[in-house]
Amino acid sequence: MLARRPKESREGNSVLIATSLFLLVAVILGGMGAHVVDRMRNSANALDDNRAVLAAEAAVSSFKEKLAATVRDNAVWDDAYKAITQGDSEAWVYENWGKTSEDYALYDGIALTAPAGGKSIAYLKGGIVDPAEYLGARFPAHVQAAARPGMDPTVNFFRSGNDIIAVASEAIQPFGSQVQDPEYFVLSFYKTLSSAVVAEMARDHQLPKLHITRGAVGELLNMPLMDIDGIEVARLAWPSAAPGNTIFDEVRPFIAAAIAILGVYLVGVLFAGWSETRRLKNLADRARHEATHDSLSGLLNRLGLLERLDRLMQASRGQMLTLHLIDLDGFKAVNDAWGHAIGDELIRLVAEALRDIHPGVAGVARLGGDEFALIQLGSANSAELDNPLLERLKKPFFIGGRTIEIGASIGVASHDDAEDAHELLRRADMALYEAKETGRGCAVTYHPDLDRQREKIAALESELRRALQNDEIQPVFQPLASAASGDITGVEALARWRRPQGTIGPDLFIPLAEKCGLIDILGLQMLRKSIMASKAWSPLSLSVNVSPIQLCNPNFAGDVLAVLKEEGFDPSQLTLEITEAVLMSNPEQARRSITALKSAGIRFALDDFGAGYASIGTLREFGFDRMKIDRSLVQAMDDGSTGRSVLAATISLAKALGIPVTAEGIESADQADALRVAGCDQLQGYLVGKPMGREELASWLASSIAA
Ligand code: C2E
Ligand code: CA
Ligand code: CA
Repeated sequence: MLARRPKESREGNSVLIATSLFLLVAVILGGMGAHVVDRMRNSANALDDNRAVLAAEAAVSSFKEKLAATVRDNAVWDDAYKAITQGDSEAWVYENWGKTSEDYALYDGIALTAPAGGKSIAYLKGGIVDPAEYLGARFPAHVQAAARPGMDPTVNFFRSGNDIIAVASEAIQPFGSQVQDPEYFVLSFYKTLSSAVVAEMARDHQLPKLHITRGAVGELLNMPLMDIDGIEVARLAWPSAAPGNTIFDEVRPFIAAAIAILGVYLVGVLFAGWSETRRLKNLADRARHEATHDSLSGLLNRLGLLERLDRLMQASRGQMLTLHLIDLDGFKAVNDAWGHAIGDELIRLVAEALRDIHPGVAGVARLGGDEFALIQLGSANSAELDNPLLERLKKPFFIGGRTIEIGASIGVASHDDAEDAHELLRRADMALYEAKETGRGCAVTYHPDLDRQREKIAALESELRRALQNDEIQPVFQPLASAASGDITGVEALARWRRPQGTIGPDLFIPLAEKCGLIDILGLQMLRKSIMASKAWSPLSLSVNVSPIQLCNPNFAGDVLAVLKEEGFDPSQLTLEITEAVLMSNPEQARRSITALKSAGIRFALDDFGAGYASIGTLREFGFDRMKIDRSLVQAMDDGSTGRSVLAATISLAKALGIPVTAEGIESADQADALRVAGCDQLQGYLVGKPMGREELASWLASSIAA
């Protein structure tokens, strides 16, 4: 079983995804914006380029048109026709056109081409020129195309050296009258596309930097100028005005600002997303640490231990892994006596000791309260780990000037055939349970027998449950005699479990009932049954054994009084016998129960005195009315004089405190005599009478009185 992925870690991923999506959307939108701006700029540029090309075309055609109009005015002219076709034309031509060409805005030169065999004449800037030389081999074809009347002038470009020259030609003809000559003179006007002309074109048609080029145009806008054969003679070229760029340049600072703001914003979002993801990751790490660690000791907790075991078991193919469960003995007493702050400090010191105990330790955990666990790489070896550990924990701890002594029990299980961490833990737990059962302060290694034993106990437990329901637990009664007179003064009720297979003694099933929580029911059942039976031999007093666990139940006093009331039994006839052990562990509640019942008239006897920890102090502290000396002390009398004198001293101490003493387990008259002399006022044991069933006791009482 592994811990679920913490919530924060999942949230961290969604923050990452949301941030990435946001960035993606922002980048797409930014890209689209940039694309739109670029498109607008390019469209504006293209629109203006189109306009410029149209303007250039218009400039060229208006230039051609102007030259054509000039040549038409001069060629379609009665005087010219007359002068050229009749008489001496040469002087007329010079007078009217050749001279003019010297300095005239509309043309730079003229040519008059006569029909085949006629005399041709040409001027450039007032001087005679040879058109074939000046305008090249294509000129005759151009003239030929213009040599018919009634047509628009023919206009073509020519190249002459480095100059580009426009030539417009028209047949010389009379105005208005239709003549039909076989052949015509042709008048040609030519004008050089000088830089001044181009500059005027540029100005008139808004084409800045317009120029003529015959070289590469690169990225310039341009337009070809063709000769009569459609062959390019030069190009007009000019740079694109690129108004889109201009607009773009104007808005560029804003775009740059927008990009900068967007960039800062995106970086901000990115940073926020990143730091939120990091925060959540830290939270997740911390949550994960908290989920798998114990806050007090800093060790792993149960979940952490199981995870670590799982991991190690998967990784350690073939290698042995051993789990040691450690339960502190006497920790609760430390807590009760010194308070939780000292208890916590003790836990920390123990945690420290566990960490350093062995180099093979691959994990230390605190499973709760005073229970710890150690994972050891390698096989279990008591001498190596458990014994030093037990030794260490037996040594005193020093906390705030106090010397605190505890101990520990250890349960060990090795991962050989244990399938998973849970099973390993269960086995170690089983071994620990056994270690505590067999008297603490030792280490027990798991063995399958423990499982079988546990099963047997579990079976017995459910049987006991059933036995209580079926009234199989019944009291027997052992007489108590006056030491002075030998008269029977009372009886002690002792529980018996009668089964078809045989009778089970209380030494076996009382601890079982205590462990599985049945002791309260069992105790009250015994009380009620004993009271009901003892009515038969009233007014003998009745002693009933009470488990210290019952005393610690806050309802105990009320329950006892209720039973007495229901059965109409005189409380002053009842003595409750308690062994001291648990009085120490919860003295407050025990004292409350005892006080409540004593004020109702019930008496209390401290049972098994001398067998455990009870002292004369306990007797006084809880206000016991009687002390019962344990059978073991009585038997020890026979072994030698020390036993006898210890017993004598104990009894005289109780007597000095005014507490009467019962001696248990008296089997011989010798013992009875000695104890009587020592000061016991009440005797109990096989010598007086064995425990007997209700009828048996009744007849025994009758016969003993008769005797
Ligand atoms: P206990 O209260 O000390 O009871 C006396 C025990 O000593 C009884 O054992 C009794 O049979 C035995 N005994 C009495 N005289 C002699 C003798 O001369 N020689 C020997 N060898 N033994 C003698 P039992 O009945 O087995 O009870 C054992 C213990 O179980 C009791 O010790 C008492 O602590 C506990 N117990 C018995 N009945 C109950 C009960 O109803 N409730 C609780 N809580 N404990 C009970
Ligand atoms: Ca007893
Ligand atoms: Ca006893």
